[in-house]
Amino acid sequence: MGKVIVIDGPAGSGKSTTAIALAKKLGFIYLDTGAMYRAVTYKFLQLGFSDFSNSSKIKNNLSNTKIDIKPAGDGLQIYLNDSDVTMQIRSDEVDGFVSEVAAVDQVREYMQELQRQFAGHFDIVAEGRDLGTYVFPDADIKIYLVADLDIRASRRLLQKNAAADNLKAFRDNLTKRDHIDSSRKHSPLKKARDAIEVDTTDLTFDQQVEEIYEICRKKIG
Ligand code: C5P
Repeated sequence: MGKVIVIDGPAGSGKSTTAIALAKKLGFIYLDTGAMYRAVTYKFLQLGFSDFSNSSKIKNNLSNTKIDIKPAGDGLQIYLNDSDVTMQIRSDEVDGFVSEVAAVDQVREYMQELQRQFAGHFDIVAEGRDLGTYVFPDADIKIYLVADLDIRASRRLLQKNAAADNLKAFRDNLTKRDHIDSSRKHSPLKKARDAIEVDTTDLTFDQQVEEIYEICRKKIG
């Protein structure tokens, strides 16, 4: 396995943008584990699923689900059974269901295995919810990113170029996802004991990247 830097934290805390910038500065490959859960959610929604409690139905459909992650530019392209779904997985519908799908044990175990395989090939900066606690407990560096809910919702609004009256809906979606993510039984969202917490509420994007880059530089040279 190559070097592994993980960034965990709640939804909208700036993990993706930070991880992309950090990976670029370090010459590492970026791994967006949320995109993998989004891809499988997209597939289930395409199949018309709305109830994710039937584990045998989920299991049967997972066995013919191929997810490929290909580094592209500074980011990633996500393929579902060889179709590029990079854009589709960011829809509001996927946002609404992804945490329910990600709470299913079989889904988690399947994705976690793919994530470990990916790390076998590259030096990576990976972002998610359970990476420092569960997927990569021996990661070289563990960062836990937090920010106030209102700040997270307004950053998301800007990112999606949405009108200001969507703020409450964004806030509700982040709250719902954080609740499901941190209360599920299997590998919940949690700060690893040896993770370094970085609160980005009052930091500009450049400041947060610089702060994390400095932590990495000191630890891995
Ligand atoms: O990071 P992003 O918001 O794209 O992740 C989408 C969803 O995928 C999260 O809300 C969470 O439910 C799930 N997820 C997870 N474990 C990870 C990454 C994401 O459960 N490692």
